[in-house]
Amino acid sequence: MRKIRTRLAPSPTGLLHVGNARAGIFNFLFAKKNDGEFILRIEDTDIERSRKEYEENAKEALLWLGLNWDEFYRQSDRKEIYLRHIKRLLGNGSAYVSKEEKGSVIRLKNPGTIISFNDLIRGKIEVDTKDLGDFVIAKNEETPIYHLAAVIDDALMNITHVIRGEDHISNTPRQILIQQALRCPTPKYAHLPLILAHDRSKLSKREGGEALSDYKKMGYPPEAVFNFLALLGWHPAPEQSSVRGRPLEREIFSKEELIEQFSLERVQKGGAIFDKGKLDWISKEYIKKLEEKDFLEKLTPFVPEEWGRENMAGAARLFKDRISKFSDFKREAKFIFELDDYDTGLLIWKNASMEDTKKHLEKVYELVSSGGDVMAYADEVGRGEVLWPLRVALSGLKNSPGPFEIMEVLEKKESLARIKKAIALISWVG
Ligand code: GLU
Repeated sequence: MRKIRTRLAPSPTGLLHVGNARAGIFNFLFAKKNDGEFILRIEDTDIERSRKEYEENAKEALLWLGLNWDEFYRQSDRKEIYLRHIKRLLGNGSAYVSKEEKGSVIRLKNPGTIISFNDLIRGKIEVDTKDLGDFVIAKNEETPIYHLAAVIDDALMNITHVIRGEDHISNTPRQILIQQALRCPTPKYAHLPLILAHDRSKLSKREGGEALSDYKKMGYPPEAVFNFLALLGWHPAPEQSSVRGRPLEREIFSKEELIEQFSLERVQKGGAIFDKGKLDWISKEYIKKLEEKDFLEKLTPFVPEEWGRENMAGAARLFKDRISKFSDFKREAKFIFELDDYDTGLLIWKNASMEDTKKHLEKVYELVSSGGDVMAYADEVGRGEVLWPLRVALSGLKNSPGPFEIMEVLEKKESLARIKKAIALISWVG
């Protein structure tokens, strides 16, 4: 049996998009599941729009994601190969130079047959190619356009399965016609469902329309992004286990599990919704599972330098189970390192009075400094009345972790300083 070989073939004309990353993952999973090989091919035949920095961006982002390729090719390194094949097509009359207004181009002589192929996801697709006419395959002998270069490469690289976005379905008949002219085999095709925004519209810049490298910048763990993208249009067979008769909807899968379970048969035809909330949820699960030390190490690049290291380990422990991505830490944990000004009114619990609040804070100050039992006091006079102002004094925020957890991180001296500040604020108003 032939070895399964798949490829991701991005054009370096912009930052690598998450849609490309998703196609990369499906190609990778399918190859690895079948003991095959996954190839990265940079399609930079469009010299005006291709940029080296975008190639770098693609490689870096794919490696970050864990999509290690077995072989790497760049089309601009393969010019002689294309030249040879273009000459052959011209020589045997399959293509011809066409002199046109905008200069001459090379067109394929299209027999206008009906092209039919069996898409592994969408089933049989049949296209009458008469309307395509004699289409352009190269600008000149040295410059193939995408269709031709891709077909030559797929053949020479022994690609067995072309797995790519649905937007390429309309390219496939042209590419098969070129294959027939070159007398090279037609690979199997699998066109992946489109990725849609929440309202089923096209994915925009705002909603998941970003580059893969943006997800690295936002501080999502790569394993979580991999997991999330793998489920964009595919889901493993439901497990036997169930909760009250309903099959267990599992969402968290390691790379190894995804390889193990992947199959093209389970790729859906309909558009796949890009649900950022789901990404955040998956990501949170991954962050929760990290060892503390590992978490701290991964978090470090996202921590402002001026925060120093003093309360870092404690703050990291406090927020590890609370953030969805590493960049959240900067916003969520800021108060630990820098207490912002807050409204005095925020210190007041519901209908409590200013005087009582002040009295409670003073008592808490005393208890904290002497190592007394704050909780016992709160239970005695009212939890909300005592713990709310204490929590606000410590965090300056409407929402935060609980006061005891914060005090553990801030330690006694800083906790007392903050309680004192709250007492001063409330005294001044009162
Ligand atoms: N260079 C094409 C793209 O970026 C590749 C399409 C294909 O996979 O054939 O969309």
